[in-house]
Amino acid sequence: MKNKNTDASRRKFLKQTSVAGAGAMLSMGISPSLMAKGLDNTSRPAILGGPAAWDKARWIKWPIWIPETDEKRVLEVLRSGVWSRASVVSEFEKVWSDTLGVKRTLLVSNGTNALIVALNQLDIKAGDEVLVPPYTFISTVQAILMNGAMPIFVDIDPETYQIDPAKIEAKITPRTKAILPVHILGMPADMPRIMEIAKKHNLLVVEDACQAPLTEINNKKVGTIGHAGCFSFQNSKNIPIGEGGAVVSNDEAFIDRCFSFQNLGLPYGTAVGTFNAGSVRIGTKVRLTEYQAAIGLAQLKRLDAQTTTREQNAAYLKSKIENIPGIVPYKTYDSATRISFHLFSFRYKKEFFQGLSRNAFMQALRAEGVPCSGGYTPLNKQEFLKEAFASKNYKRMYHKDMLDYNKYMEQNQCPENDLLCTEAVWFTQNLLLGSKEDMDSIASAIAKIHANAGEVKKTLEK
Ligand SMILES: *Cc1c(COP(=O)(O)O)cnc(C)c1O
Repeated sequence: MKNKNTDASRRKFLKQTSVAGAGAMLSMGISPSLMAKGLDNTSRPAILGGPAAWDKARWIKWPIWIPETDEKRVLEVLRSGVWSRASVVSEFEKVWSDTLGVKRTLLVSNGTNALIVALNQLDIKAGDEVLVPPYTFISTVQAILMNGAMPIFVDIDPETYQIDPAKIEAKITPRTKAILPVHILGMPADMPRIMEIAKKHNLLVVEDACQAPLTEINNKKVGTIGHAGCFSFQNSKNIPIGEGGAVVSNDEAFIDRCFSFQNLGLPYGTAVGTFNAGSVRIGTKVRLTEYQAAIGLAQLKRLDAQTTTREQNAAYLKSKIENIPGIVPYKTYDSATRISFHLFSFRYKKEFFQGLSRNAFMQALRAEGVPCSGGYTPLNKQEFLKEAFASKNYKRMYHKDMLDYNKYMEQNQCPENDLLCTEAVWFTQNLLLGSKEDMDSIASAIAKIHANAGEVKKTLEK
């Protein structure tokens, strides 16, 4: 569906400019390069009473399901009465392993627990330091704390949003046990360099690929490059099943141990306990259910096509907005051969928008019918770390010096991340499932706000 108002004004504008030429465009404050991109920045921003660039009703709602194909399997599970982990969960595991090209998958209750289980069964525990980027969902850090280990923050590269490999080695100490790169926004971290550093210092690598199913580096799926990879199937993620997660690895004995751990420590495969096959290891219970797996198997059928659509739309939208002054879209490493785009992000530089704050910019963008958010706040500065250090467990596990919160804060500063957290603007993945025309509308919305930034600022920041 086209937005008539926008179209009409675009035609009117083209008529005017074809007569008046580029000089007139410049005098109107419109850059010829933006016009060449086909952006309409001549209508008034919606926040100032103009027509909205995008019709809210056009958003593709998430999650998507198709009754004809998806409901059959879920109903079969329901009617079978077998709802606890059984053959449908195993089938999902097999399909996911094949999809990734990895030996084994273990499904668990969610991505957070996938991380907790993986770290636990790699024996990352009290006294161990884990290197982690601060630009991530809180689960990544919680998984370290839940195992009694110590998160050590490595600053990010603001161009790629990923952990900065050049800053990893300076953070390695004799206590460092693992690197936990996060393929944030669905874009890949620089795994070739991270693996090289890990090898040199004999460190484990656990990939948080919760946002990055099907993302690839040099044609290899992320999550399968380190010793373990973790995925999330939470409802907002690219494979939505409500709640769900996966640990994947080529180390079969490790996955056997993870299986045992997520199932009360009961023996599984080669993980038979210390003394004999009947003995029980320490464990928890975070199993996935059959009906969740049934939904997942239906979702997996669409993943490849959806990923392609997101990737094409992201590239197109990026090409449309990268010349708008003050809009700095993500960059990706040359080694990235496929990107899942759980989120689409750019950095917003308010100096190029007459000082219009990011919040006011986002308010104006939402008025155009474009949902957006500012993303993460700095994780390395949050109170929960202080509370963890003050907890009974941490006090008993660590020497007092190691729990000096002020010293920790000082050593874990991440200025690039602090800045990124004030500049990022996010679009969620479902926006990228729209049409090219939708991407044009998003780009035009941004261009309109840019062209009228001073007036928008006056209106919103009085
Ligand atoms: C979603 C997410 C998780 C946690 O997954 P849940 O299934 O929500 O528990 C962990 N890390 C990252 C980067 C995520 O985006």
